[in-house]
Amino acid sequence: MIPDSPAISDNHQEQAKDVITADETSSDKPEEACGVFGIYAPGEDVAKLTYFGLYALQHRGQESAGIATFEGTHVHLYKDMGLVSQVFSESILSTLTGSIAVGHTRYSTTGSSRKVNAQPALVETRLGKLALAHNGNLVNTVHLREELLKQKYNLITTTDSEMIAFAIAQEIDAGANWIEGASQAFQRCQGAFSLVVGTPSGVMGVRDPNGIRPLVIGTLGEHPVRYVLASETCGLDIIGAEYLRDVEPGELVWITEEGLTSYQWSQKQQRKLCIFEMIYFARPDSLMQEESLYSYRMRLGQRLAQESYTEADIVFGVPDSGIPAAIGFSQSSGVPYREGLIKNRYVGRTFIQPTQTMRESGIRMKLNPLKDVLYGKRVVIVDDSIVRGTTSRKLVKALREAGAVEVHMRISSPPVTHPCFYGIDTDNQDQLIAATKSVEEISKLLEVDSLAYLSWQGMLEATREDPESFCSACFTGDYPVAIPEQVKRSKLILEKAPVVLG
Ligand code: SF4
Repeated sequence: MIPDSPAISDNHQEQAKDVITADETSSDKPEEACGVFGIYAPGEDVAKLTYFGLYALQHRGQESAGIATFEGTHVHLYKDMGLVSQVFSESILSTLTGSIAVGHTRYSTTGSSRKVNAQPALVETRLGKLALAHNGNLVNTVHLREELLKQKYNLITTTDSEMIAFAIAQEIDAGANWIEGASQAFQRCQGAFSLVVGTPSGVMGVRDPNGIRPLVIGTLGEHPVRYVLASETCGLDIIGAEYLRDVEPGELVWITEEGLTSYQWSQKQQRKLCIFEMIYFARPDSLMQEESLYSYRMRLGQRLAQESYTEADIVFGVPDSGIPAAIGFSQSSGVPYREGLIKNRYVGRTFIQPTQTMRESGIRMKLNPLKDVLYGKRVVIVDDSIVRGTTSRKLVKALREAGAVEVHMRISSPPVTHPCFYGIDTDNQDQLIAATKSVEEISKLLEVDSLAYLSWQGMLEATREDPESFCSACFTGDYPVAIPEQVKRSKLILEKAPVVLG
């Protein structure tokens, strides 16, 4: 049941901004970029199916959400700041009629967190409107922006996603059809882009030549078969769609009344799926490489135990993402698995806490140690990554206060030493604790009895896939798509360019 409450008004959102801070109790994890969803299903309530798809993809971005539907050539679009469940109500969804829908849930990577930057991006072309939802990040936005401005395109937002939409429009306005126009536009884009693009004629699903961000195809019903696109398979499961296959790197799938047609728009494809999707970002019940990420994460824990066993009384994971690896660690080491931390599932954004005591124990807003489980114990705590280390330090303090006599930290990925430019917000390099400190120094800073990370080889071997088919640049600095110098300097590079209002 979708609550029939109005979407958050701009006014309300402005008030909220005054008290939301990125203080030290905020998430100490890399932030995901976006979730995308698309469906072609005449006769179905495509807006509601998209709502549920986005609901399952909410972990990929919590800043804004949007849905565009196509009813012939007419487009209905609704987007706003907030969670999917806050933005949409039954009454809003009932206005989004049509046979095609494109949805998006966003965390800002390029372009700041403002309503104008919410997606899908809607652009007019010679063949009608297109609505584009993007997961990833382009690295050649400065160049692309200059090209578009020269052509007198009025860029309304500061997002790379809008630029891709305008690049497609530019090709179509020059005489191309939907497929030609999109394929030509993608040749001008560098970086990571998994896209769902709605048009009056059909919906397309696209991945960049490296397939850095995921995108899957599902089927719904049998006579006729309808097709669905989603960032992860959990977005298919929730609406009862069957997983068919991934959109391949450099592929464009075009879904119309005739079914699904595949085009290889890039001849230079080389799969480089983001390994962080496997370790942390994607939901554990999503399939990648035809198995659940829960299984992969358990293997990471098994390997971690083999590489850095320590004697202890119990092992537990940092909820939720550290839990499968902690179970794997327990299986492989024989150290009993227990729950040592309970997560408050209803904490959303972190607000300034009203008292000093609350601020100091900010971590307990989200995670509360189980004192009777921890008291007098030597514990192994497993997490999937350490980025800045602020949350980890608080966690260790809280465990000791709860009576743990030894705290050993194990991390189911290697040290994060480089920032990501492909759609994940991993901070600047100087804010990454492992970029400037050795494991021993980090161990002292976190005040743990021992600290060990999983090896890079261990992380890749646990995939049981070709290690070359993953991007692991945030652990190595070996970026599969070259990063221009000026892009390295700032995440919000476009904010410095004047925004041209249409
Ligand atoms: S740099 Fe890291 S987070 Fe970014 S795509 Fe590569 S593996 Fe993923």
